[in-house]
Amino acid sequence: MRTTHVWCSGNLYRLRVGAGAVRLVGDELRGLGFTGRVVVVTDSNVGPLYLNAVMESLVEAGFDPRDVVIEAGEEQKSLASAGKLYDTLNDVGAERGTPVVALGGGVVGDLGGFVAATYFRGVPLIHVPTTLLAQVDSSIGGKVAVNHGKLKNNVGAFHQPMAILSDTHALRTLPEREFRNGLAEVIKSAAIRDAQFFAFLETNAGRIMDRQEDVLEDVVAATARIKAAVVQEDERDGGLRNILNFGHTIGHGVESASAFTVSHGESVAIGMLAACSIACDMDICERETVDRLESLLSTVGLPLGVPSNIDVDEVIDAMKRDKKVWKGRLRFVLPLHIGEVVIRNDIPDELVTKAVRGCYIRA
Ligand code: ADP
Ligand code: ZN
Repeated sequence: MRTTHVWCSGNLYRLRVGAGAVRLVGDELRGLGFTGRVVVVTDSNVGPLYLNAVMESLVEAGFDPRDVVIEAGEEQKSLASAGKLYDTLNDVGAERGTPVVALGGGVVGDLGGFVAATYFRGVPLIHVPTTLLAQVDSSIGGKVAVNHGKLKNNVGAFHQPMAILSDTHALRTLPEREFRNGLAEVIKSAAIRDAQFFAFLETNAGRIMDRQEDVLEDVVAATARIKAAVVQEDERDGGLRNILNFGHTIGHGVESASAFTVSHGESVAIGMLAACSIACDMDICERETVDRLESLLSTVGLPLGVPSNIDVDEVIDAMKRDKKVWKGRLRFVLPLHIGEVVIRNDIPDELVTKAVRGCYIRA
């Protein structure tokens, strides 16, 4: 078990990463000074696997826990579900100081976090992320939200958790595609900030794919720390947080043009390679950098190109609709070399179009 502290937006909280972290919820809450009622939110896939362990640890620590199980699925990240959760919180007698524990992937973390941010104007939140993506990305940084209308994360808030417990053993039951989704963000984080970590990923790719828990502990802790550091530094250097969007400008275009049949992580993998090709065309990045990235993505089974049934123009249209358009210009995070990127919003349209078209050829 690895214990570190994360500074995020002026809050310091504990991040524990390791096998069996779900069993530490009771201890952690007691250590934070809580007693009595606790509400655990989870979904219908994660509940049968890990809810018992969490409830037992809470009972053993002297708490009176209640659980709420929502249906699994992105559709649940809605104001309607939030409304149902408020009802349940009222029914179980939750109070202003009642902690909410979000046990699950990004959907549960975002929805549970949104409810915790707004119920009685904010109750304490503990994240127990069970997907790799949630452990390395969505649980860090304090963003919580639900979807509304056609817009993802349309309504949200910033609400920092009081602790994050990331169980690497729980990743064993994660479907392969979900696991790879998380790896895309892991590789992204190394590529933007940490050449040494990138080399570690190259060396240990096989063990990571076997989901060996000791190596996953390193991977989750390192990636979470990178995200937290970037978010924290962004407070001073406004805009730094944008480097986390490496691969996301074209990636979001692909994701959206594919009607989400290409997953987020897959789209980010494709988007990173497309950003690399722009960087090469601009002569700011060496071919070797692209080769290393491509090779690592391919080793972990992420796609290197867009399926040919997806329309190029739709990808470009979707990019232009995306919120990263700034004064009519697309903003790109481009690699200089492994471990360092630069943000540019002066990329000529022709280069962007060329890069998007180029994504297909590699497929
Ligand atoms: P994310 O946004 O983090 O990818 P989701 O909340 O969409 O997460 O979860 C992806 C899917 O994986 C959901 O169906 C969820 O119920 C399921 N899931 C989450 N954690 C686990 C786990 N540890 N084992 C098996 N399935 C899981
Ligand atoms: Zn992402």
